[in-house]
Amino acid sequence: MGKLAINGGSKTVTLSPGAWPRVGEEEIAAVTDGLRRSAQDTNYISAPAGKGPVGEFERAFASFMGSRHAMTTSGCGPALHIALMAAGVQAGDEVIVSPYSWGQTVSCILHQNAIPIFADIDPRTYTLDPASVESKISDNTRAIVVVHIYGHPADMDPIVQIAQKRGLMVVEDNAQATGAIYKGRRTGSIGHLGCFSIGDGKNIMGGEGGVLLTGDDRLYRRANLTGQHPARHNDIVKDDPELSPYIDSLIFTYRIHPVSCMICGVQLRYLDEWNQQRRANAEYLSAGLREMPGVEPPYVAPECLHVYHIYSPTFAPEEVEGVSRETYVKALQAEGVPVGLGYVRNPIHLRRMLQERNYFYGKGCPWTCRHAAREVAYKAGDCPVAEDRCARTELIIGGSTAWLGDQTPMMKQYLDAFAKVTENLDELREIEKQQ
Ligand SMILES: *Cc1c(COP(=O)(O)O)cnc(C)c1O
Repeated sequence: MGKLAINGGSKTVTLSPGAWPRVGEEEIAAVTDGLRRSAQDTNYISAPAGKGPVGEFERAFASFMGSRHAMTTSGCGPALHIALMAAGVQAGDEVIVSPYSWGQTVSCILHQNAIPIFADIDPRTYTLDPASVESKISDNTRAIVVVHIYGHPADMDPIVQIAQKRGLMVVEDNAQATGAIYKGRRTGSIGHLGCFSIGDGKNIMGGEGGVLLTGDDRLYRRANLTGQHPARHNDIVKDDPELSPYIDSLIFTYRIHPVSCMICGVQLRYLDEWNQQRRANAEYLSAGLREMPGVEPPYVAPECLHVYHIYSPTFAPEEVEGVSRETYVKALQAEGVPVGLGYVRNPIHLRRMLQERNYFYGKGCPWTCRHAAREVAYKAGDCPVAEDRCARTELIIGGSTAWLGDQTPMMKQYLDAFAKVTENLDELREIEKQQ
């Protein structure tokens, strides 16, 4: 295999996934048809009224996910915020959440002036550990925000059970797991409310957008009252005399653009097929990586369908003694593998805004607001599994479109690069010594 590229040898990986066309002819036709129809029928494109493409996409999405209601939003972040409002999370309430995610899994809690309480993750799935969730519940806990990170379902059954026992709401951040399945059910349809992203880079994407999913009529109506235009409220709230007096324009403009719905209306029909392509590429790579020292492929729990929004393997330092994660990654990068030191990098509870408890130039809210029932602060050691993964073992390979189509030849080159590095670990040990 020759000399390592990091020491001047030739690169192993010559293939790239290429530019994946994120919108194809069918999406173009759907948008063109939708706009033509709007030219004839001016009401068709009305996003405020939830008509035309918006309503059509919402109905298709709810039915695909096996839930009663889907409400479109401008993104998963807004969907999460509306979900917490609908769930009744208020100032000073505590919400249990994973620190191993994209920050918006947590910012929705802060937007409500509620207090994030971080529970640790399972070391194999990187999703919330139900035992840790249970240990973090207090009298002030109101909700649990679960994230299906990287496209792998969280262990929902025990979490839902804990929530039922304690009267808590469960919100799923399903931004990375659109189409994933947990014990026969689509993720995002299992908790009280599920939030999806159809923004750039996600498994289906309309340019920007999100969806809030719920099987609960009341939660759906409440979400509408803050997240949609009053043009939709009459219809949606009319059967609920308690809520109908609250129809007003005191709302967030978190609405989707109807063109996103036209695009994703097409893409939804391809979601399972595309996820299957992601899975096939990922499983090919995983089968090869399983044989390599120094790296473990992502784990897939029984009864779970992983949709590999992100492929995040684990560095195994004990298998490659004397080689640091940094040098291992640099050597692979030199061979042409698009590998990085991870996605989360710094667990959310250790990030600056949470350490300083200063969210957007606030007055210390939510932590020091008079509604806070107790002192909450965040420190290293609060979530040891998440912290250790970020500090020592997290890896990431490839970008989100790299996994579409048949990428077997490229994955084979990745494996060749891992094998070459594995055969030359002594060279890496030399590099370490020189540092
Ligand atoms: C992308 C993402 C979000 C935010 O989605 P937007 O549609 O950009 O608002 C939230 N949570 C997670 C885990 C994400 O990956």
